[in-house]
Amino acid sequence: MVSAPVQILNVSSLGNDTFTTLAQRIEEIFGVQTSVLQASLNLDRAFDSSRGQYNSTALLAQILNSYQSPNGKKIAIVDIDLYIPVLTYVFGEAQLDGTAAIVSLHRLSDQFYGLPRDDALMVQRLEKEIVHELGHTFGLYHCRQFECVMRSSTYVEEIDLKRITPCTNCIALLRNSC
Ligand SMILES: [Zn+2]
Ligand SMILES: [Zn+2]
Repeated sequence: MVSAPVQILNVSSLGNDTFTTLAQRIEEIFGVQTSVLQASLNLDRAFDSSRGQYNSTALLAQILNSYQSPNGKKIAIVDIDLYIPVLTYVFGEAQLDGTAAIVSLHRLSDQFYGLPRDDALMVQRLEKEIVHELGHTFGLYHCRQFECVMRSSTYVEEIDLKRITPCTNCIALLRNSC
């Protein structure tokens, strides 16, 4: 059996079925087979008690070590708040042109900002951030096109402004590198 080129490792509290539509989207965008599986990471090992947050790069290393999938990409979805040392927080992180990525839904819910809960909006944001981080693993850099999924986002409002798909330039770059 050939292993799936993209594995969505669900470490979050969401059900795997949350990612069914997204898996199809990823297949369309990146042209690769995509599967969803329940997974676990040793979160405690990445916890920084002084920040009360989890080191995203440490978790990327765990993903690489724990989920072997030759030539495949692995993206973990977590509930916890992620950081890298130079930033207050990150929505996610990926290895550029590599195999591992991670996305947190912690700051993607309106509840986090004291607003009423909107699960549909949270999932929409999560899907865009997953495609964005996967884009990095497929070698894409940040893009300045307003609606492109590869545009970088610091705030959730910026995620809401972009689409779930890469722009035509980014798509062309993907096709050339495959
Ligand atoms: Zn990015
Ligand atoms: Zn673009």
